[in-house]
Amino acid sequence: MPHCSQGSRRCAVATENQVERAGVGASTHTCALPNSFGINCEDESTRNAPRRLARVLHRLPNGTGRNPKRHLRITFPSVGEPRLIIATGITFTSVCEHHVLPFSGHATVGCLPSPGAFVIGISKLARIVREYAARPQTQERIGEQVVAALVDCLDVQGAGCVLRASHVCMARPRGARAQGAHVTTEHLRGAFSYDAALRDCLFDAEAVR
Ligand SMILES: [Zn+2]
Repeated sequence: MPHCSQGSRRCAVATENQVERAGVGASTHTCALPNSFGINCEDESTRNAPRRLARVLHRLPNGTGRNPKRHLRITFPSVGEPRLIIATGITFTSVCEHHVLPFSGHATVGCLPSPGAFVIGISKLARIVREYAARPQTQERIGEQVVAALVDCLDVQGAGCVLRASHVCMARPRGARAQGAHVTTEHLRGAFSYDAALRDCLFDAEAVR
């Protein structure tokens, strides 16, 4: 197998420096990965492959360092009877923590406030989805965290989240080869877990999105 004749140490240091300048401080030996694919990192075309790889990895979502629940702190008094709120088509991109490859899709989020409860601005539903997604994740955990945040931070009768995404790791040649496949996950708490009509509202909204 071809190997970098410059010495992998030199490549690794160059890559580390580049990534550290970007504030990541990665210690990953990124020259070894192109080498393992038979890329020698020597000629004009491939010399910068380790650096490009480090840059791609650095640009994957790695968290904002902030708690998404902060978006739920600002609430407003509700008017009249509690009304079901559903936001559809919330696009998100995340990174599969198992394969360090991206997955992306859209979310449908619903919540039913308790009578007389304060409510949030609707845009906050999109913000918490995107912020929980913006870190190495599993699709299931994003949905669980979104629903848990709504139930924990707001006075609601229930909350639900449906996520539909395609995963690069499912389409890779040595993986499931499931190009075009989507994964749907459902996360239901409170009234959404026992009220079939409420649940259907959420699923119908997701279907007609
Ligand atoms: Zn994966």
